[in-house]
Amino acid sequence: MNKPLILVVEDDPSVQNLITTTLKAHDYHYLAASNGQSAILEASSHNPDVVLLDLGLPDLDGVEIIKKIRTWSNMPIIVISARSEDTDKIEALDAGADDYLTKPFSVEELLARLRVTQRRLLMMQSETSSEASVFVNGQLRIDYAAGCAFLDGEELHLTPIEYKLLCLLSRNVGKVLTHTFITKSIWGSNWDSYIASLRVFMATLRKKIESKPGSPQYIQTHIGVGYRMVKV
Ligand code: CA
Repeated sequence: MNKPLILVVEDDPSVQNLITTTLKAHDYHYLAASNGQSAILEASSHNPDVVLLDLGLPDLDGVEIIKKIRTWSNMPIIVISARSEDTDKIEALDAGADDYLTKPFSVEELLARLRVTQRRLLMMQSETSSEASVFVNGQLRIDYAAGCAFLDGEELHLTPIEYKLLCLLSRNVGKVLTHTFITKSIWGSNWDSYIASLRVFMATLRKKIESKPGSPQYIQTHIGVGYRMVKV
């Protein structure tokens, strides 16, 4: 595989420098943009493998940039936000961002997020080639066509909601799904009462698929944001 090309969109020169130096040292190619207009231009003309997008840019709203990119591409987008931009981060995920990094972040965090995203990209590519009617992740196997799931070869007895939840997370493996996105997908609504139900269903689902529900292996909790299934 060629070196992945990362588009770095960040208007703060010191953060941009930290990111690009890290990328260079770890065998990535990169392009840099310091405002929204040039970000869209670079994304459309170079089709990068991953976009690292700062949400606080001088000209355009980061969420608008994501929406624009999503009109023509599913390229992975990792948003970078300051803590004060928590609601923006959730809005960005709902607009189609894959993941997020909160400032200040470490070089290790950045590299870890890139690895997760690349794995997701590889899975997406192999899925389109094999039409993926079966999903496999560690000991977990879901047969979408038959509508059943297995753990370590044993069929799981899931309620319809638990099964829907598991399918939704698996079809978006590697991606952080917000509470709003999940409740809308499952119940067609994002009322607060559904967010409470989601927590309950997540707990029962984890009891069935996680060997240690207290330290889950398959489904991560992102406090105040949502959940992500990780590729194990
Ligand atoms: Ca900024």
